[in-house]
Amino acid sequence: MQYVPFGKLNFRVSRLGFGTMRLPRIEGEDNKIDRERAIALIRKGIDGGISYVDTAYGYHAGESEIVTGLALKDGYREKVTLTTKLPHWSVNEEKDMNRLLDEQLKKLDVPYLDFYILHALNRDAYEKMSAFNYKPFLEQALKDGRIRHTGFSFHDDKETFLHILNDWDKWEMAQIQHNYLDDENQATEEGLREAGRQGVSIVVMEPLRGGALANPPSDVRAMIDEHESKRSPVDWAFRYLADYPEVATILSGMSTEEQLEDNLRIFNNLTVNGMTEADRAFTKALKEKYLARQPIGCTACQYCQPCPQGVKIPNIFGAYNHAQMFDHPEEFADRYARMKEKGEDGSQCIGCGACETACPQQLNIREWLEKIESEQK
Ligand code: SF4
Ligand code: SF4
Repeated sequence: MQYVPFGKLNFRVSRLGFGTMRLPRIEGEDNKIDRERAIALIRKGIDGGISYVDTAYGYHAGESEIVTGLALKDGYREKVTLTTKLPHWSVNEEKDMNRLLDEQLKKLDVPYLDFYILHALNRDAYEKMSAFNYKPFLEQALKDGRIRHTGFSFHDDKETFLHILNDWDKWEMAQIQHNYLDDENQATEEGLREAGRQGVSIVVMEPLRGGALANPPSDVRAMIDEHESKRSPVDWAFRYLADYPEVATILSGMSTEEQLEDNLRIFNNLTVNGMTEADRAFTKALKEKYLARQPIGCTACQYCQPCPQGVKIPNIFGAYNHAQMFDHPEEFADRYARMKEKGEDGSQCIGCGACETACPQQLNIREWLEKIESEQK
């Protein structure tokens, strides 16, 4: 396992971090964690060299923090950097932040956290947390020793990311969604680099796009299989991220021993700046191959909205493209069925054409809606 400095902070962390949002579950009971297996899995990861563990208030309907705390007993707490997150959606008044932090320390059964970060910030959430004075709250928690470092996790666009990053000089970490498909989405590579320049380390989440990059469609898989390195899809995805010196740790939400062992094996062979020019060109080509699988050139600009019939065109096209990109037609069928229940699907269309007049991409919206509708019959 490779260990790298955590930005401007005076410690190192393992390149692979343990995300506890997909712990093994008891069959038939949706979110209930199989505690024995989960504890054994987390400990096995730490024994295998993982020194960063990430949880959150809401993971597994609140059970993740409890199980993570149990896993870190018997001397394991001292071996890891522990992070949990403040859920802004549970903050209704200023004093809620203190209450939540204390509750989380209790659930984890630890006297302090290495990182306490604001969870899933977007523009609105950031404004809300600013109005609730998150800065003095975190400063006080740092001062009284309940937390050692601060940061935020993030889901919005680059401008918002840079705004949050530049709005406080005490950030020490930013957790972002990044992978070779998303280098221009959300915080983007530019945001990642800027954080690094400011000494704010990056923790990567969704390195495999929710697992999708581990199971590519046949044409993408053929490219990977034919590559002389014979690396697996997961290997390529992790290798791409490990190449960034700005990235401290890459979170993987592991559910099975097999995933853990596979990840440990891959991370034992990764290095910073370990990608050659040719490797970088290859991950770029993989991204292009994925993107070329999206049949509809919809940019989700929303100019076609609202449709007088309530058809949620960008949502339909986005979900359709996504399903085509990853070859998951069943996923689209599920989503489309839910849209149908809400009367937002293509069958509501009366063909007025207003959306096509508004669409800057000049898409044949009615034709696409008809095609999608007929495929779902
Ligand atoms: S053509 Fe159909 S989808 Fe487009 S605006 Fe009219 S009713 Fe809505
Ligand atoms: S106007 Fe066109 S590109 Fe924009 S969201 Fe609607 S369909 Fe997509």
